[in-house]
This record gives sequence, structure tokens and C-alpha cells, in this order.
Amino acid sequence: MLKEMTASQQNTAKSKASSTASTPLKLTPANYYSAEADWKYQSATQFKGWLQCEAAELAQLKGEWEPQRDPTALLVGNYLHSHFESPAAHEAFLAEHPEIMASTGKTKGQLKKPYQVADAMIDTLEGDPEVMALYQGQKELIVTGQIGGVDWMGKLDCFADNHKYFADLKTTQDIYKRMWVDDNRSWGSFIEAYRYPLQMAVYQELVRQNYGTRSAPLIVAVSKQDPPDHEIVSIPQDLLDYWLNKVIELQPRIEAVKNGEVEPKRCERCEYCRATKRVSKIVSLYDLVS
Ligand SMILES: [Zn+2]
Repeated sequence: MLKEMTASQQNTAKSKASSTASTPLKLTPANYYSAEADWKYQSATQFKGWLQCEAAELAQLKGEWEPQRDPTALLVGNYLHSHFESPAAHEAFLAEHPEIMASTGKTKGQLKKPYQVADAMIDTLEGDPEVMALYQGQKELIVTGQIGGVDWMGKLDCFADNHKYFADLKTTQDIYKRMWVDDNRSWGSFIEAYRYPLQMAVYQELVRQNYGTRSAPLIVAVSKQDPPDHEIVSIPQDLLDYWLNKVIELQPRIEAVKNGEVEPKRCERCEYCRATKRVSKIVSLYDLVS
């Protein structure tokens, strides 16, 4: 499933003086989510982490700190994705995660509630012929390339065989919920709030470099409601262009922090900053809410 880098991409990667990309790493499904991959490559998830808080992202990358996360949300996402990848991938996921089944009580041997919700989401998507016709192609396809001289990696949930579009599965509480979008300082959709246009812009560029086509990203959104809602959502090209340019603009500082050349900035709000906080000045009450 891994597309080999072209000779020119390999040469560029080799000649790069950056310490995080001194040797090319062949990405596989087994090492894609590894610390080694995160050091060698930039990714949309990592980049969003840098934008959120440099100090927290660096501490996490160095293995010095782990956010306290409820593993369920991640597992539910993986449960859903593995189902749409292949029966074998789903079987492998189930074998690796016996904890998704209730082991005590009246529901012993049944899927725990969040995975029953995931099953309802799967049924919703599979029950819509339009979605199933759309969601055909290469699944979980790893793509790599260079953006602004930095090695990037991405993983397409589904890349259409005609290369005209790629689809990304996103789960959310309510597709139509109004959410605060920090970037715009205004209300918007969950897609903007989670900066999915940034991720889709990067994937579109990586696809362009590997396949020579400008494929349209489509978000297959499915809600956790009962019954689940679903939509296929497009992203305007000007918003994708904006985010690709934003990545190129912000990236030099992020790479400098990642390479240890610049001190990371603390956001003083996130879980990491709260856990490591030392008061350095007295603040005015007017500074508390801005
Ligand atoms: Zn922070």
C-alpha cells in the first residue's frame, strides 16, 4: 500500500540538513503511528498539536509527557475505521482489543455501549447506497512528500480509483452543532473547529505530488446520535489553499522548535502547561477573559 518515494524525492530527503529528516524512514502501517515516524515526518495531527501548544507537543514528542486521554474515543474511531478498511483489519482490531467487550454484569460478552453506538454509525453509512458507492478505492493509503522542504506523511482513509477525490471518515456528536472556531474567532462547524481543512489541504498536496492530480477531499461525517446522522461534506478550494499556505508560513518556526533551535512557547492553558505552571507575574482580572 505504500507508495515508494521517487528518486528525486529521496535525493531531496537525503540532502536535507535537518536532524529530524537525515535518513528516510520507510513508512508502513506498523510504524506510521510511532515516535520515530513523528520525528522524521511532519503530520497534520502533529502540526495541529504544535499550533495548540509548542511546549506540550515537544514534551509529548520527547516522550516526557503523555496527555490524560480517555482511550475510548480513539478506540471507537479505530473500530469504525478498521471496519471500513477490510474484514481482516476489523478482525485484527477485535483480536487486539478484548477490552471493548463487557466482561461482567448482564451485558457480559456483548460490545460495550460506545462500540454499540459505533455499530449503529457503521449501519447508517452502510445503509446509504450513495455513501457506499462513494467510499470505494484504496483504503488507509499512506502518502508522503515534501511541503516547504519538510517531509510530511499522511494516511488517506479512502482514495478513489479514478483519483478524482479522497474521502475521510469523521465522527462527531452532532454534524450541525455550532462550535467556536479559534482561527476565525467566530462560530463555525466541527470541521473548522478541529482544523480538518488543514489536514485535507496537506493530503491534497501529498496526493498531487504522488499522483499528479488535484483530488477533492470529501468528509464522510457521521454523528454519535441515536439514530446517527450522516453527510458527505466538501471543502472549498480557497480554504484548502489558505491552509496549505498557512502551513508553509508557520512551518519554519515549528521545525526550529522541533530541532531544538528555538525554545518552545507555552500556551499556559493546556493540560501540560497547567501541570507544569509557575506564576511569573501578577495578571489583571481583565486579562483572564480576552
Ligand atoms: Zn500549553
